[in-house]
Amino acid sequence: MKLVAISGVRQAAAIEVPMPRPVKHWALVKVHTAPLCTEFKAYGAGHTGHALGHEACGEVVEVAQPGRVKVGDHVAVMPQAACSACACCLSGDYIHCQQQTDYQAFSGGQECTGTMTQYLLKPDWLLPILPAGMSFDHGAMACCGLGPTFGAMQRLAADAYDTVLITGLGPVGLGGIINGRFRGCRVLGVESNPYRTRLALALGAEAVLDPADPGTLARLRELTGGLGVDKAIDCAGTTDSRRLCIDAARRLGQVVFVGEGGDVPVHGSNDMIRKGLTLHGSWHFRMGDVPRLMQVIQRTAPALDQLITHRFPMDGIAAAFDLQLSGQCGKVLLKPWA
Ligand SMILES: [Zn+2]
Ligand SMILES: [Zn+2]
Repeated sequence: MKLVAISGVRQAAAIEVPMPRPVKHWALVKVHTAPLCTEFKAYGAGHTGHALGHEACGEVVEVAQPGRVKVGDHVAVMPQAACSACACCLSGDYIHCQQQTDYQAFSGGQECTGTMTQYLLKPDWLLPILPAGMSFDHGAMACCGLGPTFGAMQRLAADAYDTVLITGLGPVGLGGIINGRFRGCRVLGVESNPYRTRLALALGAEAVLDPADPGTLARLRELTGGLGVDKAIDCAGTTDSRRLCIDAARRLGQVVFVGEGGDVPVHGSNDMIRKGLTLHGSWHFRMGDVPRLMQVIQRTAPALDQLITHRFPMDGIAAAFDLQLSGQCGKVLLKPWA
């Protein structure tokens, strides 16, 4: 079998590795779709490795024991290898589990836990089964295509009464527009890349403003009757984008940080006390909300086909990473069997 390896600065290729074997409750999944996320940054920087990726969708092809999935099930692959037993896991917020399982430690075998691969291993409880008829490409949007902003909007209880600002319209932020429109929100965006601005407008953002324009904050207030947005989700992860979310939020508004990045100054009095702001961090979504996320996927299929802009075979991985570095794309999929 093959998986993707980064061997140097802008050097990546498919390499041959031994087939992994399922042990205990870990299932073997044949990966049909592996969406690319931020691995291109490692490719650009030359951080070498071959356990790449955390997003996938595929078919269970082997189990070591009867469990929550069986051979033939079509499944979305959730990130990490959480323990399933701690308070975070039991609540469904397994992404915050501090007792990650080390497959290699208990199996003694070849580790194959990344997703940019033809086969991977995953604890069975982190393999939600796709509704009948859902394609692997759409099912894979349960990962970072729709997942992070779905989790953020669940946290915010975002609905049709809300004007929601999304800063940073890369694949995660674009997924936020789909989630927001699904819920009936009015969605405003901030993004500098013209390709992604066009895509955001096509997906239903009412306006997309340029973060470099000094008038952007004033324009956001103008678009909200001078009050500010009800809710804001930062997907850019920069100091400026996070600060813009805080400044653009209305009194008693809410802000969620989704994009990973640097620091942001938060003023205890003017932001938190006087404005009454609620500030959240949100990484992923609760396992108990998977059925709702699957409904979003089923009912936004045409938008998902716009969000997914490119597909690459495994031998095209370097070209896929180069495309992501250019920013001229929405969600990019690796198709390990193409
Ligand atoms: Zn846990
Ligand atoms: Zn991701």
